Amino acid sequence: MRLSQFHLATVKEVPADAEVVSHQLMLRAGMIRKLASGLYTWSPLGLRVLRKVEKVVREEMVRAGAVEMLMPSVQPRELWEETGRWEKFGGQLLKIKDRKEQEFCYGPTHEEVITDFARNELKSYKQLPLNFFQIQTKFRDEIRPRFGVMRAREFLMKDAYSFHLTQESLGETYKVMYETYSRIFTRLGLEFRAVDADTGAIGGSASHEFQVLADSGEDALAFSDASSYAANIELAEAVAPSTERPAPSAELTRVDTPKERTVEEITAFLGVPASQVVKTILVRGREGLVALCVRGDHELNEVKAAHLPELPDESELASEAEIVAATGTRPGFIGPVGLPGSIPVIVDRAAAVLADFVCGGNHDGTHYTGANWQRDARINRVADIRKVVDGDASPDGKGTIRLGRGIEVGHIFQLGQKYAESMGAGVLDEQGKMRTMYMGCYGIGVSRIVAAAIEQRHDDTGMILPEAMAPWRVAVCVINPKNDATVTEAAESIYQQLSQAGIETVLDDRGLRPGPMFADMELIGVPHRVVVSGRGLEAGTFEYRARTDSEARNVTREELIALLG
Ligand code: ATP
Ligand code: MG
Ligand code: MG
Ligand code: MG
Repeated sequence: MRLSQFHLATVKEVPADAEVVSHQLMLRAGMIRKLASGLYTWSPLGLRVLRKVEKVVREEMVRAGAVEMLMPSVQPRELWEETGRWEKFGGQLLKIKDRKEQEFCYGPTHEEVITDFARNELKSYKQLPLNFFQIQTKFRDEIRPRFGVMRAREFLMKDAYSFHLTQESLGETYKVMYETYSRIFTRLGLEFRAVDADTGAIGGSASHEFQVLADSGEDALAFSDASSYAANIELAEAVAPSTERPAPSAELTRVDTPKERTVEEITAFLGVPASQVVKTILVRGREGLVALCVRGDHELNEVKAAHLPELPDESELASEAEIVAATGTRPGFIGPVGLPGSIPVIVDRAAAVLADFVCGGNHDGTHYTGANWQRDARINRVADIRKVVDGDASPDGKGTIRLGRGIEVGHIFQLGQKYAESMGAGVLDEQGKMRTMYMGCYGIGVSRIVAAAIEQRHDDTGMILPEAMAPWRVAVCVINPKNDATVTEAAESIYQQLSQAGIETVLDDRGLRPGPMFADMELIGVPHRVVVSGRGLEAGTFEYRARTDSEARNVTREELIALLG
């Protein structure tokens, strides 16, 4: 590529409304341009980077045995009615009407469409397991679009959906996807953690988030530096317009309902809203005492239930004040399971029960562990709640706990039979019996990764993109103020040689002065820079500098090819 024929449009000024580094640098480099709130145009430069991410994701998905397809962005209301998500999904769902007044949504995710596809296509257990994926534009009407493409309304996602005859088969593919995601983020040169995304009450490890570590991240993380121990609670800002957290007591409702009700009846009875806000409710139903957790996540934007042992009588429970004293936290930080920024404690009748094994990071930089009602099937005392701060030994005994922030770049779920059941997606088993399929779903924020990588990899002069993501690997910069033909020819020749060797090279033939030219190449994060000048040619050398080197050095043509080859 010759830059004189490309559209590179860098700007010097730091845009006033860009709060985070990645957003600032992407605008300054001219990778993206804002069209409207949460809507961005990817310029030719930005698209090169985006496509690189896409390539790595696609290659690794294919390597893992997933098969690519493409579903429509616009989806009919009827499908979403089948799963109840037309209402439940909430405000993020952009609803539209066609000229016949038929209702559609712009897809924020594709469980309904793929399940419809699967119920029509898949007939026999022999076709399973199958893992379908697509790389496609999604729309979510986010409450607070911000940080550029990091939290946009329209964004590019890789979403995959697997189908299985058994839970075991789902577990196997889930494991493969976990490993595949780890490979993808490693190849992209990112420092990341896989975090158990089930916060507390829900139990199980049916979901993991892949978090890129970055101070600007919206999620608070606690993780070990030497093991896979990691926990996350999303911050309130991510799901609610206000950073004010409601008082925990207002968030927790205890309802005694007639014993014969099922969890579903109870939620109908409670009128659980398609809330964007985390909320925990304790109810007594046919199955005993149940904690219900409502979350804003699209998959969890429904009620999940955890069965609790019966609460002991009041005298056995620690009071909120006791918990405050024992943990050294502030009263406002004591809250129900899953409430952002709180210790996941169920507060009931002024009595506090249970912190949990996965408690997440917290606003004030602490992390709590040590209580788990599933352990011994009984409730722990306040004495079991342990406060872990940055630098403490990890609760699993391996390594040291680090508290920090993360950007969610991937999320994998074991959905089980939920969608297949509500939409009637089954196959015949070996005995010829119809069986509901098991499903997994696996998302990656392709466009968000670009921003997340820049958050992690930059310096004062610009981006430091890993080779797998950089717009070009090498920039050949021509310094030729006198328009000397030998300089032009030498630049052209080294550019051709590198390109023919399969090294992705850009020739900066714009005729800029060295200062602005080098500044541009540093800003856009090209990993290797080669300077061709009259003086260098006289000495028989090129000037070479890696983006991360502090100084340039002179190398011969052979040395250069060996270096980059
Ligand atoms: P978040 O917690 O950041 O809102 P999510 O949990 O709602 O994300 P998922 O439904 O798990 O997102 O979607 C899969 C992936 O899509 C996420 O892990 C993230 O990388 C990406 N993603 C989700 N929302 C956005 C957005 N508004 N802009 C860019 N990428 C997004
Ligand atoms: Mg999330
Ligand atoms: Mg979201
Ligand atoms: Mg998620």
